[in-house]
Amino acid sequence: MSDQLTRRHFLHTVTTGAVSLGLTTQLSRAALAASEAWKAGLARAVITPQKSLWMAGYASRRKPSEGTVQELYAKALALEDQAGQRAVLVTSDLLGFPASVSHNIAERVETQHHLERHQLLLSSSHTHCGPVIGEMLRIMYPMNSQQWADAEAYTRELEDKIVSLVGTSLQSLRPARLGFGHGDAGFAMNRRARTNEEMVIGVNKGGPVDHEVPVLRVDDKHGKLRAVVFGYACHNTTAQDYLQFNGDYAGYAQAWLEKQHPGAAALFIAGCGGDANPYPRGSIELAQQHGEELAAAVEKALIGELHPIHGPLKTAYGEFPVAFAAPPSREELEAQLENKDVYHRNWAEAMLKILDRDGHLPTEYPYPLEIWRFGQDLTLIALAGEVVVDYDLRLKKELGARKLWVAAYCNDVFAYIPSLRVLQEGGYEGGGAMVYYGQPGPFAPSIEETIIGKVHDLMR
Ligand SMILES: [Zn+2]
Repeated sequence: MSDQLTRRHFLHTVTTGAVSLGLTTQLSRAALAASEAWKAGLARAVITPQKSLWMAGYASRRKPSEGTVQELYAKALALEDQAGQRAVLVTSDLLGFPASVSHNIAERVETQHHLERHQLLLSSSHTHCGPVIGEMLRIMYPMNSQQWADAEAYTRELEDKIVSLVGTSLQSLRPARLGFGHGDAGFAMNRRARTNEEMVIGVNKGGPVDHEVPVLRVDDKHGKLRAVVFGYACHNTTAQDYLQFNGDYAGYAQAWLEKQHPGAAALFIAGCGGDANPYPRGSIELAQQHGEELAAAVEKALIGELHPIHGPLKTAYGEFPVAFAAPPSREELEAQLENKDVYHRNWAEAMLKILDRDGHLPTEYPYPLEIWRFGQDLTLIALAGEVVVDYDLRLKKELGARKLWVAAYCNDVFAYIPSLRVLQEGGYEGGGAMVYYGQPGPFAPSIEETIIGKVHDLMR
């Protein structure tokens, strides 16, 4: 892809005219008054399906949901800086928003609420105990046509709810102060284990993880907590293939914080936990336990040292191509139709359909990247897909960790995003999962440099 073309497709930045106060020293919570130039608005909606639906994230489930153990929510935080620049963060107890659903929501938000694409950030917790959304991971689920129709109907209702949620959050904008800090929680465990030359999903005690918990505090003008946004880089898979809807550890952490702070909202943003699982895992009780550990880390950060966050708020969104490795040939795909594994057969069938229709398989994927800058005080990098922790650790090294928040599972969840290391090691996150995601094959080795390069471009 030529430089010119990528530039043309990329970087759509809006800046406000406000001047940053440039305060960078650590200040106590009492000093947050200095950052009182914001407005914040909040809204929430229950998005738990009202009927039994197929649940997202595991190929092993053989039947649809059997009730609810914890409500699922979508929540919106609207922010407006001193110059009137607005943006809305949406968080959700869902596996992820596929591109088609994000596009539908963003278009309607633009028409109805006058926010451009770069002013809307759609994130999800990656709970594996939520409903199937759109056609995401279609190859993974043994669903019948009625079950797919039910998933489609739920998805349309979800879009309606989120569009109206964004509107409600904007209507409730009131003076606010923002502060940023960190905690940490230890239950994220690298899950890429090597056995007999093969990478499998297991427990890798020496593998890379990021235990940091970024925390954004939103107070009203009197200093009372209105919302806390927090993150963690770990799969939301403690309860595993449970059949009752729940938000897993992130759902329990949010619930715990909201119980501790009546009237305040807790919003969770998933980090680069593509290659991390909670440890230990396997029950709803463990999901509650991890949720409480994460909430306690947030609580500690809330009463600790927070940096005040000033404007101006600058938001940018762009889509740029990431290349796949050379695609399989028709002969290779036809041979896969005989594979003993049903998912490989389904995948080969889907790829052959694309080949028949288009004459070729896709050679690249339009990767969405969104960055929100809060003056000199905080940068939120919102990556798409199931990003492995190497990206988070590398960006923190290259850009400085203290004022950086690296999020993943934002705006589109369409594949794992391996680093070059993980791609070369192979395994599920390195390329194996592409079958379930219905992608033509692994990414090209350029993926890490392409994405990191675009982050740097956008930061400039
Ligand atoms: Zn995942």
